[in-house]
Order: sequence, then structure tokens, then C-alpha cells
Amino acid sequence: MARVVQKFGGSSVADADSVKRVARRVVATQRAGNEVVVVISAMGDTTDELLELAKQVSPDPPARELDMLLTAGERMSAALLAMAIFDAGASARSYTGSQAGVITTAAHGDARIIDITPGRIVQGLEAGDIVIVAGFQGVAQDTKDVTTLGRGASDTTAVALAAALGADRCEIYTDVDGVFTADPRIVPAARRIPAISYEEMLELAANGAKVLHLRCVEYARRELVPVHVLSSFSDRPGTLVASFEEGTNMEAALISGVAHDLTEAKITVVGVPDEIGKAARVFSAIADVGVNIDMIVQNASVTDKTTAISFTLPDAERPIAIEALRAVQAEIGFRDIVYDDGIGKVSVVGVGMRSHPGVTARFFTALAEAGVNIAMISTSEIRISVVVDEAAVPAAVRAAHKAFGLDTASGEAVVYAGTGR
Ligand code: ADP
Ligand code: ASP
Ligand code: MG
Repeated sequence: MARVVQKFGGSSVADADSVKRVARRVVATQRAGNEVVVVISAMGDTTDELLELAKQVSPDPPARELDMLLTAGERMSAALLAMAIFDAGASARSYTGSQAGVITTAAHGDARIIDITPGRIVQGLEAGDIVIVAGFQGVAQDTKDVTTLGRGASDTTAVALAAALGADRCEIYTDVDGVFTADPRIVPAARRIPAISYEEMLELAANGAKVLHLRCVEYARRELVPVHVLSSFSDRPGTLVASFEEGTNMEAALISGVAHDLTEAKITVVGVPDEIGKAARVFSAIADVGVNIDMIVQNASVTDKTTAISFTLPDAERPIAIEALRAVQAEIGFRDIVYDDGIGKVSVVGVGMRSHPGVTARFFTALAEAGVNIAMISTSEIRISVVVDEAAVPAAVRAAHKAFGLDTASGEAVVYAGTGR
């Protein structure tokens, strides 16, 4: 008997019929002779709707209460799925993250899993039940408060449970047929990637390919959990995320995929005195408030011995960063702060670029031919990213995708459901 963890995302359980459809799939997995643990997300766009509701009630809700509110979304779908499973002829028990033994830090909204004590899950499995766990939540070890693990983190719950339970399979069901060479919502010619290494998937996830939550991939790599990404709307083969010897299982593609991210903003600190230690002060001020920055560009001014320092960061953290900079403006002596939230990041990712020159030239030529202006550039060993105007992102992604020979006419990039939110 195999032990299987199956995670279903919000678009797979958007309404009552979808919940029943998922129930049938889960029951079929159990009837095929498996122990089944299901991790479930909130229905459709429930989490966004709850966030909007909170904003209507209070402009700045306490983080603890926001977590109490948001975890309700997953709790609803978990209970509904259990009901549908009973109707489909099997028995199930649903648990909140806390009941399931997901122990986390106390960082509301962005808690990390510290430990999993899956005693109740195992009991449920041993009793022959399908066990359903509300995704994206846990309980803080110190405060015992309910926490959430960050947007999209039900994927992480699934992988963490698979590791803790020694599961034979971890399957992430979503609204597309696996991981594609680009987001199928903006590149209809994207192709399914049958197998991808943790390393490349990490870069794609870290740069906006939200098909898998970044920490889910980090967790899977650390615990060596192979992850299958599949559609809950089809029976197609999906994508296997695992560790591969380079050049063995992988197709010999120069670039594995193109990712894009519209959630960042750019801040420019203008008129920074061109003196030793000023950049250090700027970034210390930002680090002190816990903001993570991404790309940096510094332009020296030729006329007045000042520089302009631009950097990108999650747009949601822009107000905190600007406040922190304002507090040290007089001390550092810079002139002003300006920002631009109308930017996007486009990244090409592939282990092939380690051994092949000319990837940057091909990428930038494709952008130029598509009329896309590059504002910032950053690279890692297996990634090249550019910041461009937000409106130019779809054209930039499509141009890069085509330039690296990734376009396919197979029509496999089907988007079955979801709003793409
Ligand atoms: P779920 O609700 O199942 O967690 P998500 O919306 O979080 O689903 O993730 C699935 C979505 O990820 C797809 O609908 C697609 O628009 C988007 N996506 C972005 N990049 C990729 C990619 N490279 N491959 C597949 N999907 C991608
Ligand atoms: N419902 C949560 C969110 O929308 C978690 C998840 O879907 O993974 O972010
Ligand atoms: Mg998701």
C-alpha cells in the first residue's frame, strides 16, 4: 500500500461541483489501494476576498486576527470536501493545520514550519479514513496562535506533510497540466516540461512562476521529496520535480523556462552623496525593517558628485521601506525618494546557460526586436532577469520564449480554470 499526499488548489475547488469532482478523484485514489492525505486550499479566490473584506473593516488589521480570518477559508473547503467524500462512499476526517500538527514560527502571515507532529493524521489513515488537512496554516510553537504560511503556501503544507509522513508520492493538482516553459496564461505556445530539477524549479518559483510556492520547492529539495504537478481537470502526465543528474533525464534545452513577476516595485534614492559608506547606510536602513531587496543599480552623476541608487522589492513592502529611508534622509543627506510600481521582471532560467555562451545576447536581442526597453539587469548562475515596463511584460515573455526555441504548436498549454489571481 502506498501513501499519497494530494494537494488541490483553489481553482480546483472553486464551487460545489468542483468539490464533488475532487472528492471522486480522491476516493478513486484510495480505492486503488492507497492511503490518502489531502491538502486543500480555500475555494476559488476566497483568500483574496477575505483580505478585501478585512480591508473594508479596518485599514490595518492586526496580523493575528488576519490569520484567524484567512485560515477560515481552508477550513471551509476541508470540511466541504470531507462531506463530499462521505457522499462518494468513503469516510474522511478534516483537520485544521493546528490539529494536523503543523507547528510554525509566530510570524503571522509568513510563518515557517518548524516541526510536524502528524499523530492524528496517522491515526486517521490507520482507521482507513481519507485525511484532509487545511493548507497554508499551522499553530505557533510559542504563542499557540493560529498562523498562515504566506500566499500560495498550501503547496508547502503538502510537501512538508509528505516528508513528515514518509509518503511515497506528493501530487500537486492545479488548473494547468504541469509546469510549462512559461505561464500558459500569457504564452499560448508554452510547452509542458515533463521533468525539471529542483534547482531550476527554485529559480522559476523565486521569479514569479507561481505554479509552485517557492518554499515548497525549497522544502522538497531539502527533504528529497519528488513532486508531481498535475491538473485536477485532466489525466495528462504533468511534471515531475526531482533531482536529476545534469544531461541525463533532462531534455537538452538551453533555457528551461521563462518566468515573470508583476509584484515588485522600484525605489530610487536620488542625490545620494558619492562617498564611501552611503550605500551601506541606505541598505542598512532597509534591512533593519526586514525588507528583502532584489535587484540594485547605481548610477553615478557626472555633474554634482551624487549618485542615484535604484532597487526593486516586493511592492507590498514599499511603504515600510520608504518610511525607513525617510527616517535616515537627513543623516545620509540624499535629496529624494521616488518609486515606480508599474514595473515587471522577466527571467530566463536554465542550467544549460552554465556551459553555453551567448544566452544574454540572444535574450537582449529578442527584447530589442520586440521593442522592449530594459531598465535593470541581474543574473545568477542559471538565470538572467530584466526589469521592464509592466505593460511590456507579456511581449517580453513571448519574445524570449520564442527566441530560445521554446514555442510549440501542440496546443498543450490549456488553462482549465481559475482567474489567474
Ligand atoms: P493553485 O490555485 O492550484 O495553487 P496557482 O494559481 O497558485 O494554482 O498556480 C497555477 C497557475 O500558475 C497557473 O494557472 C498559471 O497561470 C501560473 N503559472 C505561472 N507560471 C507557470 C508555469 N511556468 N507553468 C505553469 N503554470 C504557471
Ligand atoms: N489560499 C491561500 C492563498 O490563496 C493558500 C493557497 O492557495 O495555497 O494564498
Ligand atoms: Mg498555488
